[in-house]
Amino acid sequence: MLRVVKYGEAVLKREADKVEAFDAELKTFSKELFDSLIEEKGLGLAAPQVGVSKRVFVIDMRQRCDTETPVNFTLDSQKVPLDLCMPLFAVNPVWEPIGDLVEEAEEGCLSFPGIYAKVDRAYKVRLNYFDLDGKPHEIVCDGLFARCIQHESDHLDGVCFVDRLTSARLFKIGTKLRKLRKQTKEFLKSQPKK
Ligand SMILES: [Zn+2]
Repeated sequence: MLRVVKYGEAVLKREADKVEAFDAELKTFSKELFDSLIEEKGLGLAAPQVGVSKRVFVIDMRQRCDTETPVNFTLDSQKVPLDLCMPLFAVNPVWEPIGDLVEEAEEGCLSFPGIYAKVDRAYKVRLNYFDLDGKPHEIVCDGLFARCIQHESDHLDGVCFVDRLTSARLFKIGTKLRKLRKQTKEFLKSQPKK
């Protein structure tokens, strides 16, 4: 199991490297990344969150899918069953907003356990990415799926959701954030030097 890195670890602030080789190593790593996502019961996990500074993330919307909140999306302009799209392994992803609607909703992050805050995100997006075989794809989606894509893409640029908060919202979680950073520091100190 890959350990999920926590707030205060340097890798979360780093811009990740583009993936150049679509090889067996990438597939093995992606599988491990997905195992960690399932273990932690998250919706999405980006490679830097397990200490690997590469432009890869995995999303699995089935973790949070029920009939009341259907996941609206197209994959390569086709409506396909969710199972065909999930888990979504996105390599070298690039997204852009569609329209200018912005939605505010509460977000959390596996690197910030127990911390939640409202973040403004584009409501609808287009995601272009490569799959693990190096084939290009396009997803158009909205709502929670679109939010996940923006959140995970941010991790590849060294940006965490707390960097996106208004100062008032950041202030609200300030105490929790400082506590977590202190915990991380103590954890890192207790680890044997590699
Ligand atoms: Zn996150």
